[in-house]
Amino acid sequence: MSDSTTIRVFRFRLYPTTAQEAAMFETLRLTRALYNAGLEQRISAYKKQGKTVTAYDQQKEITALKAECPEYAGVYSHVLQDALDRLDRAYKSFFARVKRGEKGGFPRFKPRQRWNSFKFKEVWDKKKGQWLSPGKPVDEGRRINIPKIGAVRCKFHRPLEGVPKTLQIVLDVDQWYAVYTCEVPVNPLPATASVVGVDVGTRYFAITSDGEFVENPRHLGKFLKKLRVQQRTTARRRKGSNRRRKSVQMVAKTHRKIRRQRQDFHHKTARKLVREHDLIAHEDLRVSNMVQSNFARSISDVGWASFFQILSGKAESAGRKVVPVAPQYTSQRCNRCGHTCRENRLGEVFRCVSCGHEDHADWNAAKNILARALPSGENGGSHAVA
Ligand SMILES: [Zn+2]
Repeated sequence: MSDSTTIRVFRFRLYPTTAQEAAMFETLRLTRALYNAGLEQRISAYKKQGKTVTAYDQQKEITALKAECPEYAGVYSHVLQDALDRLDRAYKSFFARVKRGEKGGFPRFKPRQRWNSFKFKEVWDKKKGQWLSPGKPVDEGRRINIPKIGAVRCKFHRPLEGVPKTLQIVLDVDQWYAVYTCEVPVNPLPATASVVGVDVGTRYFAITSDGEFVENPRHLGKFLKKLRVQQRTTARRRKGSNRRRKSVQMVAKTHRKIRRQRQDFHHKTARKLVREHDLIAHEDLRVSNMVQSNFARSISDVGWASFFQILSGKAESAGRKVVPVAPQYTSQRCNRCGHTCRENRLGEVFRCVSCGHEDHADWNAAKNILARALPSGENGGSHAVA
């Protein structure tokens, strides 16, 4: 047993009463208003006096806010702090992007549809080894305690593991969820002595250096079609009408269905890779985005990024290694002799103009990706990429 730990996410469906649900909606409304007011404050202080308002300055004002606006007294302090923390993170990542020379991403005001959660940042008393008030299971595990909202019915379809850290209450279209993060011990799987490179694509979801072709999930197309029909219906309906609101809800539900199917598929695919291999190499998408500013590709990148996130989470808790590698020329480089040029690739076929090596184009790429992750590097290549 190793003593290192990793963070795991546990998500459970909540069944609030009408009054509890109203209180949760009200919490969303107030935290969003706080976020937007905090943003407004930062912008105007900067415009008027060139002054920077820090997260610390804003956190200090929460007590005064509670005294002035009684409605805020009805929200747990940590939940309010978290709204301002989110604003601070948005600012920090904006400045980090500016520093890297990337464009845009100045923090924006949050409309209702882009604010669907609030968070308790502490749920466990480490010293005493027991639950604090937020998130504590009560009523023999049938409900959880949500401060200022009540004991909300919760379906624990599997047990929590490790030490609980935070609790987020999330609204997903018309369903509520309790999302716990827990610190769990790493539980290494037995070594397999197998290493693999994974190339993601649009024709296939992924191709491995072992020659495995992972198809895209089958039912997704059907739902995407349904989504397009529903979106057209919505567009025809009068703004502000009841029928339109119902239609918008339908679209959101189909989106949710697609997202969940995709997630299930990602989990299944990641589980298999982690079970079978000690090391998994893939292209570093953050780099690939900059290299190939291709719109269609950047859209599917979103899906792959969440897949790689799931993969690295599973790998971490299983003691496996995931290695992102530089993506340059993986599809143009000959895996046998290292010759790298555009002419090597003809659609799905790879044919090296130097040594005549033939392969499936993506399979060849997957092998290059694996080679880049191994200590021996890209052997045989006279055209190594800097
Ligand atoms: Zn070659």
